[in-house]
Amino acid sequence: MRQPSVLVMGGGVAGMSAAHELAERGFRVTVLERRAIPGGKARSVPVPHTGTAGRRDLPGEHGFRFFPGFYRHLPDTMRRIPLPGRPNGVFDNLVPATRLEMARAGMRKVVIPARFPTSLEELRMGLAAAIGNLLGDPGIPALDLAHFTERLLTMLRSCEARRYVEYENLDWWTFSGAEQRSAKYQLYLADGLSRTLVAAQARRLSARAGGYILVQLLLDLMRPGGRTDRLLNGPTNDVWIDPWLRHLLALGVDYRLGAEVTGIGCRRGRVTGVTVREAGATTTRTADHYVAAVPKEVMQALVGPALRRADPLLGELGRLQTRWMNGIMFYLRDDPPAVPGHSIFIDSPWALTSISQQQFWPDHDLRGMGDGAVSGVLSVDVSEWEAAGELTGKDARSCTRGEFVAEVRHQLQVRGVEGLDDGNLVTAFVDTDITFPNPPHAGVNAEPLLVNTSGSWEHRPRAVTPVDNLFLASDYVRTHTDLATMEAANEAARRAVNGILDATGSREPRCAVWTLSEPLLFAPARLADRVLFSLGRPANGGAPAPTLASLSPD
Ligand SMILES: Cc1cc2nc3c(=O)[nH]c(=O)nc-3n(C[C@H](O)[C@H](O)[C@H](O)COP(=O)(O)OP(=O)(O)OC[C@H]3O[C@@H](n4cnc5c(N)ncnc54)[C@H](O)[C@@H]3O)c2cc1C
Repeated sequence: MRQPSVLVMGGGVAGMSAAHELAERGFRVTVLERRAIPGGKARSVPVPHTGTAGRRDLPGEHGFRFFPGFYRHLPDTMRRIPLPGRPNGVFDNLVPATRLEMARAGMRKVVIPARFPTSLEELRMGLAAAIGNLLGDPGIPALDLAHFTERLLTMLRSCEARRYVEYENLDWWTFSGAEQRSAKYQLYLADGLSRTLVAAQARRLSARAGGYILVQLLLDLMRPGGRTDRLLNGPTNDVWIDPWLRHLLALGVDYRLGAEVTGIGCRRGRVTGVTVREAGATTTRTADHYVAAVPKEVMQALVGPALRRADPLLGELGRLQTRWMNGIMFYLRDDPPAVPGHSIFIDSPWALTSISQQQFWPDHDLRGMGDGAVSGVLSVDVSEWEAAGELTGKDARSCTRGEFVAEVRHQLQVRGVEGLDDGNLVTAFVDTDITFPNPPHAGVNAEPLLVNTSGSWEHRPRAVTPVDNLFLASDYVRTHTDLATMEAANEAARRAVNGILDATGSREPRCAVWTLSEPLLFAPARLADRVLFSLGRPANGGAPAPTLASLSPD
């Protein structure tokens, strides 16, 4: 029997995940990817023209590409991407980052374990950090620490309905009570921790999304064997995306680079085909089913009136907000000793985070790349692009390239980062997504990131749309993960594929979808809260309260 065909628009984590699940179930799959390199926002960005004397170009790798222990969907997929000598496929290329560093200008750095202690030394360090927090630097008042713990426990004790209806509409700043607490509470706990959550700002982040993810990260820390922070043991495309693409091709997927979708046709509630620009020609491609795995701002532009009529939520994509998170890599002659994990520059105006990569790449020696003079790379992400810098006084969007590089370097150096002096810095590379300003206009970021602003959940579409043959898979779709991450993209893809399996009456097994972890200890409290919530919820100004079913991702 002829297997149904599926056209996947976009070849990032979501598009590749959807193609993987579909191809394993015998579907005929074509992926249309507009770039010349696979992987979307998770891809490596080779630094153009840096390789000399037969060496490859230097790898451009973002500092924030971390795979927390609570991820389940993505690791499950990674285990199914074969790699010679690796029993668990590319999953075996994930390695733990064992420490997390918090740095402030003029202060001693605070280093804490990034996993459940596995040795006496880590236990000692964890205890010292906890005591240091209480008594010394960073010196968060004990009452504030107790308040913060109470807030997290409140999140854990609350029923799902309360989280969706009440906390979703609060921002994290308000929920965490930051306004009434000390400046250190605001800096470290309200703002600082949410900065680790992908470009989020405490004053805009949904309290439900932010608090729930924060709880997951902390549970990872407390679980024996738990790891808050894992990362890849080499450049992303080398150790994950390229083996994945090879596997998809082996499964029969037609993955087409340089194929840009420019329009989606829709008639009588069905997609009729997509317009594709490829190799200088524009054609229409058709399939039985379509998976849109492009980012929200691209989808927003592709949704025409007919699609909007067929699925009104697609018309609301403009209400979802994106922000900038992007970065710069500093290539160093000598690789100074660095913390084995991420660093958060907690008081940096541009919300910088960094990681020194070479220590995690045993099989990818930078000296064999570029001009052979580089032995270390410090990858730095900038999550705040609208605040004035300390050196230039300008926000990152308004800087020239030179100002941007100098400002980031300055913010790092005054917070104790070594190795960035003129004698050691070989070159700096800013992600090619960033176009620097042509005054008076601000710069452009070709790939902004969705942020889970408070109240945004109800405007987010589901993977299965009311359009018969259109399914959505990207990090903005409603998922249990609910944070714009690779994990959310993968979960959304699984949901889209399950939708196609249902639509085709397939007997193939459904893709596994997991909820986030809920400690059993709090189950009775959550149950009690469900009763209280259903009894006590105010009438919402007379309008019926939204039901949980209307808000869930399913
Ligand atoms: C700097 C940075 C750091 C991050 N750090 C982390 C992290 O540590 N951990 C984590 O889990 N997540 C992280 N994220 C988020 C994560 O990378 C994204 O959420 C995830 O990769 C999104 O995958 P996606 O497939 O939904 O979208 P995308 O990655 O955006 O993929 C969409 C694809 O569609 C293609 N496309 C776009 N338009 C068209 C078109 N018209 N036709 C055809 N193709 C098109 C794009 O080129 C792209 O390949 C980070 C993101 C950034 C920017």
